[in-house]
Amino acid sequence: MAARKVVIVTGGAKGIGFACARRFYEDGYRIVIADNDTEMGHAALDKLGADEDKAIFVSCDVSDKLSVHNLVAHCLSTFGQIDVLVNNAGIILKGGILGLSVKDFDQVMSVNLRGAFLVSREIAQYMVQTLEESDDRSGRQKCQFSIVNISSVNAVVAIADILAYEVSKGGLNQLTKAMALELAPYGIRVNGVGPGSIKTDMLAGVAENQDALDMIHSRTPLGRIAHPDEVASVVAFLASADASYITGECIYVDGGRLALNYVMAKKNKD
Ligand code: NAP
Repeated sequence: MAARKVVIVTGGAKGIGFACARRFYEDGYRIVIADNDTEMGHAALDKLGADEDKAIFVSCDVSDKLSVHNLVAHCLSTFGQIDVLVNNAGIILKGGILGLSVKDFDQVMSVNLRGAFLVSREIAQYMVQTLEESDDRSGRQKCQFSIVNISSVNAVVAIADILAYEVSKGGLNQLTKAMALELAPYGIRVNGVGPGSIKTDMLAGVAENQDALDMIHSRTPLGRIAHPDEVASVVAFLASADASYITGECIYVDGGRLALNYVMAKKNKD
């Protein structure tokens, strides 16, 4: 029997990342939760309820080259393989061109874009080397390996006061395309998932704030905020053999937001 596939989910301790880790676990993968929040990471492992041989937590700052190198080494020494990478770790700091500090700009870019680059680079090198050393070419044909980048609708549409976030996600979409082209000859697929408004800590405050909720509803045809599992299911699809001919794409899980060219009628509050 083939060994369970192995997935690394960065920022997997909570929110969308944890939903991805749980979904992959249910789909029969072995899980590596990589996150800079050690306490939440161990709590996430407990919530998963998996044995040590099926899921581990590795403390990792994706923006740090050595930390990323250690993550990959730890994963390979524990599980011996890496089949799927989900670049999910991300942060958002407020500020536009007139007020955003250079420090905050650099911080967002270093997690959201440099982080995805660093982790992808290490893992793509491992994947290519593994395929080149293998006599069996079926790994390439079956597209054994896959990378999914968690982007955002803000890679495409902008709000003035989250400039660095938007620039980082726009860059991430181009990283997805460039990696997809370079890795296609090896059968390694690289795709993106662009969430709209998802109920996680990143959206904290919105659920309790009626004005903010109204604003989100006004730009969301499906008229609600999504659950993280609704993103995880699309990530799992893109990583699976069901998506074997999809690469260089970004699927937006946004309740119709990017299709909208006006605002929705106000909801009747009764
Ligand atoms: P979240 O609940 O804040 O979770 C993000 C996780 O990433 C946290 O555990 C966080 O740890 C971790 N992280 C932050 N910096 C890291 C680093 N340098 N290295 C490793 N881990 C790090 O966020 P989320 O809403 O699930 O977002 C996940 C992804 O979806 C992000 O890329 C985000 O941009 C994208 N997204 C979210 C939404 C949304 O509505 N929620 C919409 C569009 C796109 P700490 O808590 O210690 O920071």
